Amino acid sequence: MLEKKNFYINGKWIAPKNQKDIQVIDPATERSSAVISLGGKEDVDAAVLAAKDAFVNWGFTSKEVRIKLLEKLYEIYKKRWNDISDAITLEMGAPKDFSSKLQTGTGASHIKSFIRYLKNFEFERPLGDHAPNQRILYEPKGVCALITPWNWPMNQVCLKVIPAIAAGCTMVLKPSELAPLSSIILAEIIDEAKFPSGVFNLVNGDGAVTGDALTSHPDVNMISFTGSTRAGALISKNAAQDFKRVSLELGGKGANIIFKDADLEAIERGALRCFRNSGQSCNAPTRMLIEKSMYNEAVERLTKYANEFKVDDPNKEGDHIGPVISETQFNKIQNLIKKGIDEGAKLVAGGLGKPDGLDKGYYVKPTVFVDVKNNMEIAKTEIFGPVLSVMSFESEEEAISIANDTPYGLTNYIQTQDPEKVKRVARKLRSGMVDVNGAGIAVDAPFGGYKHSGIGREAGQEGLTEFLEVKSVGGWN
Ligand code: NAD
Repeated sequence: MLEKKNFYINGKWIAPKNQKDIQVIDPATERSSAVISLGGKEDVDAAVLAAKDAFVNWGFTSKEVRIKLLEKLYEIYKKRWNDISDAITLEMGAPKDFSSKLQTGTGASHIKSFIRYLKNFEFERPLGDHAPNQRILYEPKGVCALITPWNWPMNQVCLKVIPAIAAGCTMVLKPSELAPLSSIILAEIIDEAKFPSGVFNLVNGDGAVTGDALTSHPDVNMISFTGSTRAGALISKNAAQDFKRVSLELGGKGANIIFKDADLEAIERGALRCFRNSGQSCNAPTRMLIEKSMYNEAVERLTKYANEFKVDDPNKEGDHIGPVISETQFNKIQNLIKKGIDEGAKLVAGGLGKPDGLDKGYYVKPTVFVDVKNNMEIAKTEIFGPVLSVMSFESEEEAISIANDTPYGLTNYIQTQDPEKVKRVARKLRSGMVDVNGAGIAVDAPFGGYKHSGIGREAGQEGLTEFLEVKSVGGWN
């Protein structure tokens, strides 16, 4: 079993002030794979102080210095690719191929993309030809608290740590206590790249104590959080006390609108996007809306596809899905499946219990409910498991209305061969992202949500400017 109890503070791995250990559970075996410590207030104070002291110099480094260090980080990340991928499989159960290509791969893509944006970004620019003595300066926000979840661990950590470094901020990262192992490797990479001490700090811990201490710390200037809407609201309250800048990436309940002129693969593609990563993606299309005239035929295809969908051990190669993260999450999903059955939705695939032959591990059957009403619990709640709710619609207006009838607004999906319909519907969907015909959202396109799905954007140029304050200077000659 791995022992990873120390925190990375001010350029050193140091023991927690008060030892409070927890086990990291391998969701495929339900056995402990590592032990980490939960940081207390004193550990958070030490990490924030290190970041505050480091900011004095780091905040004024040239972008060339930061580009050089990030390029070094990227080289070491590529060297440690397999370690990161293995850690992700162990900590959250992503099957090894998925873990390597997508989980570790998106982290790498973000590092590369932020380096490119940093190279092209102008930190000082004139307001315009009409006002030659007016300058706009973009300056780092300062000390950042970066708090991340377990479902796409390296993707989410890289979406915060890399632009924070690029902007000239210093930081304390608190990764999810359920999946801290890949972040510990990232800290080792940053250490090997020889960033100045205190620029990056890592304190492991939970939300209630460590997360709360970080987000209420008076010397933290910005909080960038990805996680549940529940925690996002608590964090915003802490931030409000001293007007910390807040960026929130929260939950989703995406609709996938399938018009009758959609391409043939739209049904299977939609189910795959829902089940992928065992349904643990904030942008998963978990509500499938099918045009009535093709509903029966589509349900037939979907039923066949979902019943043949493979779930297996994440340590095996292949394109199957693995377990969900934890016993708590497994039980939550089971309760919601039960709720769907009780509310009268029709179950055509999956359902309660574990898939055959997978008794140990938090495995969930890929589940499809049809004839769902949008006011049922399974259509309203973010389940965060491989559970798809299917409903029908008769007109474009009705589809848009069902899609928008949710407190969330992260990603919606459209399937049609009619480009004019795409534009009409995409404009009316109240979400930060719209994915059409499986095109996907580019790695550097702004990622974030409307409504309860969050505040702010990650990735690409918007993801970089999230970490910058804007200063106007008049009389700059
Ligand atoms: P969570 O909110 O329970 O935990 C996320 C992180 O926040 C963890 O590090 C946790 O320790 C910390 N935390 C929890 N309570 C806190 C508090 N009161 N103060 C400070 N920190 C606190 O979420 P989770 O279960 O780990 O992740 C799943 C959620 O994340 C889902 O709702 C999902 O939709 C969302 N998510 C959103 C995006 C996005 O970009 N929009 C991406 C991935 C996941």
